[in-house]
Parts: sequence; structure tokens; C-alpha cells
Amino acid sequence: MKNISVIGAGTMGNGIAHVFAQSGYQVAMIDVSEDALKRAVDTISKNLDRMVAKEKISVQDKESTLKHIRTFTSLQEGVAGADLVVEAATENVDLKCRIFRDMDQHAPAGAILATNTSSISITLMAAQTKRPEKVIGMHFMNPVPIMKLVEVIRGYATSDEVTGTILELSRKLGKVPVEVNDYPGFVSNRILMPMINEAIETLFQGVAGVEEIDTVMKLGMAHPMGPLQLADFIGLDTCLSILRVLQNGFGNPKYAPCPLLVNMVTAGNLGVKSGKGFYSYSAGSKELVVAPEFRR
Ligand code: NAD
Repeated sequence: MKNISVIGAGTMGNGIAHVFAQSGYQVAMIDVSEDALKRAVDTISKNLDRMVAKEKISVQDKESTLKHIRTFTSLQEGVAGADLVVEAATENVDLKCRIFRDMDQHAPAGAILATNTSSISITLMAAQTKRPEKVIGMHFMNPVPIMKLVEVIRGYATSDEVTGTILELSRKLGKVPVEVNDYPGFVSNRILMPMINEAIETLFQGVAGVEEIDTVMKLGMAHPMGPLQLADFIGLDTCLSILRVLQNGFGNPKYAPCPLLVNMVTAGNLGVKSGKGFYSYSAGSKELVVAPEFRR
């Protein structure tokens, strides 16, 4: 395996491109937005600078990593010659199904088609293609260069051989893969999202404020980040989409998203990526400041 294409250059796509390029793979990063591609290369460069400053890599390593990444706005050009395509576009079922149909048409017949989806059915995406045995979930965690886990999700038709290849590849990237089966939310988000939703519900009902809820979970449960801060970090739109997949997939009202989360997403308060969620994020500031509407 040499050539990896990554579709989507947002929060996750740029991290995925970064780790493959740093491990010596040739990476084609594809996005519909030229701006997103520019921002992604800039983010990767800044993250590499941080690693150089911490003496984890050399300046030459940084330059060589950046040289391994090419950018494309055309999917057709970006996936030509790929051994593996990792789809990391927006969490939307119709969009992902369309991308899988396009990938199947344009990627080489032997290429493995993986998705970084947080919750959408791998089996459904596989059903869009003529190679369902080569479709698999490769779910990286955010921030990709730092987090060790890759949740490897077998769709209904994924072959043993393809699963073995992706487990092995994840180890080559320095990650720890865990194999799970394809049911809504897999393991990670089936457990994480109800916790985040309950934290938002706790805020919504006035039981406690943003800082109090996050402090209880950080100091009381030894979580490195409180659930509301984590929701901001993941993106509130992504959290809402995942909860809807759980709600529809299991038909169980316990997964219904809190109305406050729905309102915040509708208002465009998406967390870190929009500059405001439960906290406010001013450029360059590391200080955690509760958003004005949640100050008590
Ligand atoms: P994001 O909104 O930051 O980025 C999505 C990118 O996809 C954007 O740059 C957008 O322009 C691009 N895009 C949209 N349509 C496209 C198309 N047709 N072709 C190519 N690019 C397209 O989203 P994200 O947070 O990076 O999430 C991407 C995927 O990773 C989602 O499936 C999400 O569920 C999953 N994921 C997210 C996290 C997280 O913490 N954010 C963690 C694990 C997995």
C-alpha cells in the first residue's frame, strides 16, 4: 500500500492526511472547497511546527511530510491510482452514499474504500458499490495525530482479508486498532453521545452550569475534558447528526437529541469550528471562556 486518498479536508481529513504522510505514504487530499484545502495544509504545517518545537520530529521530517501531500478539488483525479481511499467528508448520509458511488466508479478496482464516519452504517455505504467486501470503517479519533485509537468497523460483507489489511495498516501508523461490528454508533459513539446529550439535558434543565457540569466529569470521573467542552471540540452539528443516527437506527427515544442542542446547531453555534458553542473561542486563545448566554 503506497497511495492513500483522503476525501474531505476538514477537522478529521487534515489529521488523517497528516498521519499517513508522516508515515511515508503518498497522500491525495480531496475537498470540494479550495479554501478548506488551503486551511488543511496550513493546519498540518502548524501541527508539524509544534512537533518540531517539541523535538519530536526534525525540520527535514516536516518538509518531507508536506511533500507527501497533494491537493485536489476533483474526486475523479484525486482517487486515480489509490490503494486506499479514506472518506472523511461531512457526516451526512445522502452525501456519503453519493461519494461512495463516485469512489466506486473512479478508484482502481482493487482499492479498499474506507470511511471515517462516526455513526453512519458501513453496510449502507458498501451497498452503494460493486465491491462491498472492500468497504470498511476506519474511525480515527480527534485530534488524529495525537489519539491512539482507530475503531475498525466491519460491515456486513467486509472480508477477513480487508479487515486484516486495515488492522495492520493502523498499527503501521502507530495506532491501536480495535475491531467492532457495524451497528449504529459502533462502540465509541454509542457510549459517548448519550453521555454528551445527558450533559446538555442537565444544563437545559438548569441542574448546573457549563463549568460545573464539566468540572464534575473532569475531577469526579477523571475525564481529561468535560462533556460540554468535548461536544464543542467534536462539533455540535456532528454530535446532533450522530444522535439522530442512533435514534433512527435503534428506534429508541432515549437517544432523542436535547432541544437545546438542536437550537444551538440551528443558530449556527457549532463549537470550536464556528467560534462559539458552550464556550467562546477567540483565535489563538487557550483560555476556556463560557459563552455569554450560559454565564450565571
Ligand atoms: P468538517 O465539517 O470539519 O469537514 C468536512 C469536510 O468535508 C469539509 O471541508 C467539506 O468541505 C468537505 N466536503 C463536503 N462535501 C464533500 C464532497 N462531496 N467531497 C469532498 N469533500 C467534501 O467535518 P469533520 O469533523 O472533519 O468530520 C468528517 C467525518 O469524520 C464525519 O463523518 C465525522 O462524523 C467524522 N468524525 C469526526 C470527528 C470529530 O471529532 N470531528 C471524530 C471522528 C470522526
